[in-house]
Amino acid sequence: MTGISDSFNRPINYLRISVTDRCNLRCIYCMPAEGTYLLPHSEILTYEEITKIARLAAELGINKLRLTGGEPLVRANLPDLVAMLSKIDTVDDISMTTNGTLLKDYARELKQAGLKRVNISLDSLSQDKFELITRHRKLSKVLQGIEAAKACGLNPVKINMVVMRGINDDEIMDFANLTITEGWHVRFIELMPAVDNPPECHSTGGKANLHCQFMSAHEIKEHLSSSGEPEPCLPITGNGPAKYFRFSKATGTIGFITPISEHFCFNCNRIRLTAEGKLRPCLLSDEEIDIRQPLRHGASTEKLKQVIAEAIQKKPRKHRLPKGAISQKRSMSQIGG
Ligand code: SAM
Repeated sequence: MTGISDSFNRPINYLRISVTDRCNLRCIYCMPAEGTYLLPHSEILTYEEITKIARLAAELGINKLRLTGGEPLVRANLPDLVAMLSKIDTVDDISMTTNGTLLKDYARELKQAGLKRVNISLDSLSQDKFELITRHRKLSKVLQGIEAAKACGLNPVKINMVVMRGINDDEIMDFANLTITEGWHVRFIELMPAVDNPPECHSTGGKANLHCQFMSAHEIKEHLSSSGEPEPCLPITGNGPAKYFRFSKATGTIGFITPISEHFCFNCNRIRLTAEGKLRPCLLSDEEIDIRQPLRHGASTEKLKQVIAEAIQKKPRKHRLPKGAISQKRSMSQIGG
């Protein structure tokens, strides 16, 4: 395996694969209550197609894969895809981002198929607030999913919380305390503006809104001071964008992901594959390169590798948030968050 770098000399070794645009939640910052346009099944890459693209990307130097969506676990037989991907010799890390609602049923099978670890999105520990944010009453399912993931060794389990002022900021300390009492690895994520969250400032009304609800990592950190100052620490895994801290009594860690207040583009090591086979050089730019069309029309492996390399070369130096939204056209569930 040789490594590949983009045109700004950033080594690219990480592919995030969206396996579906479907989701079983309707988070207010991600999707409208009525959902979004759904791709016809014929347009969604098959597991064989995803595996072929991942194998070619691995030949170019990608060695980390993450499955996402939509909600990856709503796609049938996901462990089969994990098993197919884990046969790619040079891939040494397969992980998944999930809302956790279906994880209890699949955690063991996924682990056996070769999944290494999971990030679970959870924005509230209160049943009512969880329902306000996700528009579903499934908090207990997520908590069961977290336990199942830990029990079968999908470690470290990381909990991702998107912090929204006036909605769940009163729970920042509750989440942080779980790094002490439960050894959770909690990551606080800054809210990004999305296509369905227009920037006009209005009260929550069931929608997330950047100007009203955005909280910077700096502000989030101020909420933590009641338990003492968390000390900087090394990342628990990988070299992702989070900056990590730890309370002296904690076995778990606190991470901050700051796409708005402190972009991490200079360290960006990833490209994305959408469910319908578009390579997306940057989450936050709508430029996409279609790989499904050449794949389905018999392009050679060399040609397909060129398409992947082209997507890598098209990575922008820096994203344009907070001036624009994540995308002008698509929700996060359609891109693959
Ligand atoms: N369904 C899976 C899940 O919930 O983790 C994977 C897809 S979801 C789009 C991936 C991540 O994107 C979640 O952690 C979610 O909270 C985050 N996300 C979605 N919209 C966001 C926004 N506007 N700002 C910040 N994070 C967002």
